[in-house]
Amino acid sequence: RAKETGKARCVVYSARHSTPAEHDISLEAAMFQAVREGEFMLYYQPIVDARTREIEGFETLMRWKHPTLGMVPPVRFIPIAETNGLINLLGAWALKAACVQLKQFEEAAQRPLYISVNISPRQFRNDRFLDVLDDALAFSGVSGAQLVLEITEGTLMIDPAHAETILAKMAERRARIAIDDFGTGYSSLAYLKRFPISVLKIDRAFIRDLPASQKDGAICNAVLDLAKHLSLSVVAEGVETEAQLAYLNERGCQYVQGYLTGKPMAANVAVAALTERHYEDVMRAADVPAGVA
Ligand code: C2E
Ligand code: MG
Ligand code: MG
Ligand code: MG
Repeated sequence: RAKETGKARCVVYSARHSTPAEHDISLEAAMFQAVREGEFMLYYQPIVDARTREIEGFETLMRWKHPTLGMVPPVRFIPIAETNGLINLLGAWALKAACVQLKQFEEAAQRPLYISVNISPRQFRNDRFLDVLDDALAFSGVSGAQLVLEITEGTLMIDPAHAETILAKMAERRARIAIDDFGTGYSSLAYLKRFPISVLKIDRAFIRDLPASQKDGAICNAVLDLAKHLSLSVVAEGVETEAQLAYLNERGCQYVQGYLTGKPMAANVAVAALTERHYEDVMRAADVPAGVA
């Protein structure tokens, strides 16, 4: 029996240490520490009018500034938080902090703006999610109409009946729903009819090779056409060049978000971008490789 136990242990041990998951285990431990130490922060990326380049709102993007590892990108830590449930805590904090920040942005800009927040599948399914949402709105004084919640096609399709209930409650609060990374998830278009969706965010994958790629051009045109007929707004993600912006503009894409018009930036830089006359210089200067501060 001892031998068996030893063997089983050995298997567990070697499985852990021979897979890439090993690093994730230490990263996971570091995440709990990071929550206690307050190492998570929010960056804000402008979503701009494609014609005027005026800032309409910001997408909130989470950052983890680890004392020795440096900036850990969300693609590394969000999946771990999604697996262990920490995303509920982090996501609740992000939603509240983003709403509070929006108030400061509006004060600086002296005009209405909105804030767009990513909601993971697990957060969306969490029983307390609506309470978290109401708390963020009540605490900050932000109205639901100023909030956009970004979810993916996958989030809707895990449990469509539940999604329908939650989305109806969000609509009661006048919060808008954006489909993030549109076109890269489930390709069923039926959900556009079923659910109260307001915004489609065209994934960067379809923008990257514009204007040269005819296929990507066709996909963007189709999405813009679809959105127009369904009265949805479109945000093109990952716009990096003037040529991409011009292409999208010509085809009636109303909003863009990307390195060309503003990288993800710390809140104080976003305030400068809203108040300085030459805000485009501020936004370019703000950057820092791969969204690092
Ligand atoms: P996403 O929501 O699709 O966010 C857009 C990503 O594209 C961001 O990466 C942003 O920095 C990047 N990006 C924006 N413009 C450009 C561009 O012109 N070129 C390039 N190459 N990239 C651009 P980031 O910040 O690394 O976030 C990655 C993903 O992590 C997000 O994708 C989102 O799915 C997730 N995420 C980030 N913050 C949160 C959060 O607070 N909660 C949740 N649940 N997920 C988050
Ligand atoms: Mg997003
Ligand atoms: Mg996206
Ligand atoms: Mg994405």
